[in-house]
Amino acid sequence: MKEVTYSSTRGDSARLTASMAILKGLAADGGLFVPDSIPALDKSLKELAEMDYQGLAYEVMKLFLTDYTEDELKKCIAAAYDSKFDTEEIAPLSESCGSYYLELYHGATIAFKDMALSLLPHLMTTAAKKNGLDKEIVILTATSGDTGKAALAGFADVPGTRIVVFYPKSGVSPIQEKQMVTQRGANTMVVGIHGNFDDAQTGVKKIFGDAGFAEELDKKGFVFSSANSINIGRLVPQICYYVYAYTRLLKEGRIADGEEINVCVPTGNFGNILAAFYAKNMGLPVKKLICASNTNKVLFDFFESGTYDRNREFHVTTSPSMDILISSNLERLIYYIAGCDAVRCAELMKELSSGGKYTISDSEKAGLSDFYGGYADEKETSEQINKIYSESGYVIDTHTAVASYVCDQYKAETGDNAPVVIASTASPYKFTRSVMNSIDPEYDKKTDFELIDDLAKLSNTAIPQAIEDIRTAPVLHKTECDIDEMKQVIEGFLK
Ligand SMILES: *Cc1c(COP(=O)(O)O)cnc(C)c1O
Repeated sequence: MKEVTYSSTRGDSARLTASMAILKGLAADGGLFVPDSIPALDKSLKELAEMDYQGLAYEVMKLFLTDYTEDELKKCIAAAYDSKFDTEEIAPLSESCGSYYLELYHGATIAFKDMALSLLPHLMTTAAKKNGLDKEIVILTATSGDTGKAALAGFADVPGTRIVVFYPKSGVSPIQEKQMVTQRGANTMVVGIHGNFDDAQTGVKKIFGDAGFAEELDKKGFVFSSANSINIGRLVPQICYYVYAYTRLLKEGRIADGEEINVCVPTGNFGNILAAFYAKNMGLPVKKLICASNTNKVLFDFFESGTYDRNREFHVTTSPSMDILISSNLERLIYYIAGCDAVRCAELMKELSSGGKYTISDSEKAGLSDFYGGYADEKETSEQINKIYSESGYVIDTHTAVASYVCDQYKAETGDNAPVVIASTASPYKFTRSVMNSIDPEYDKKTDFELIDDLAKLSNTAIPQAIEDIRTAPVLHKTECDIDEMKQVIEGFLK
């Protein structure tokens, strides 16, 4: 197998093994790690269709994580995709109203972040062992709501690690917040910041770039890493479920071998859809990558105009995990459409950090032809939940509803009737109030826990364990801070 190494999107010439790139999280020059080439699938789709999730995940990830031994990688996979998931299929497909919903929310924290964050701690501790790292790894994470809990669940009580999560105090759903602040584990810390997700993410990136701080902590025996989707160890596991979805459709005879499908993804930080882009470039027959945004439609505007401009009003929506104006992983796509020119990529990212915007050239824009951008506003999102429920009895969450709406819009606009896989990124139980109000505004009179019981009856599904757990769990984290105090908070935790 060809060895794959990783280098920065911004020109730092160091080439790292996969395990070192996972340990580091972010490149020294502030860029993101990208593989020096995108490997092609080396098994046929038919062969992959005969495998279970774990077997298929190995076949995909071995091509990227080439310095992990077969035994190491298989052990990581077995430890990640086990009974923490409430179905052996791990990521089941559900057909509704003419589209396939790929349910990525069957893990411990009922959002798609579990697909990668169940695995990342294992990849990271294996990487530490392989590379003889004798420091305690401190995971710093900014969250728009779901990454935080999934990372906490993954890293809690993992020896040799600590985790600090920053979330926007007023920018997550009540259930998301409750899930995080009830987290157990002596190595965990959860902090509500007075700011939005972009503030949290920028703050974390700044701390990563603070060489003096890193040196200080190094002396104390700590090293930082990231569990955000800027870490390549988050991205690679996400490629697997697109291959899995395709091969399930193939196995069930819903598509022919080689037939092209479209993929539609509710997008925030651009990690999930970028994984679909990698899957396509590995040879998976995907035609369009449909990128769905909520009212914070900075990506839609970018696909339309070629200008990325974060200078705009920030909206708090009912799909909070997509309330993002700086989509970090777009940087990796920019790198590719610039012809893997890291100098050019660095130039654009500098414009983004100084003036909040950049414009790509016409030839770069041509590289976006595989993408279609769309968005749904709050009313359209709510109506889509209602429509899907009324027509099929299937209940989707607010994020998935954004994608579902944009998918319908894409079909109507283009007449393209290729099968579509919609990434269903969160359980409706995570956003119960918004979901139930969309079905009937009368529900708004009820308490959160009454709504959960009603949702179970209405959708004929079992209440997930993650929800049962927070009904009675005590609040263990009460720290809040301003955006310029994040560093002090970390210093306090690592004393
Ligand atoms: C994180 C998240 C998204 C956005 O995914 P990105 O990879 O950041 O684009 C969408 N929906 C849900 C429920 C999420 O948790």
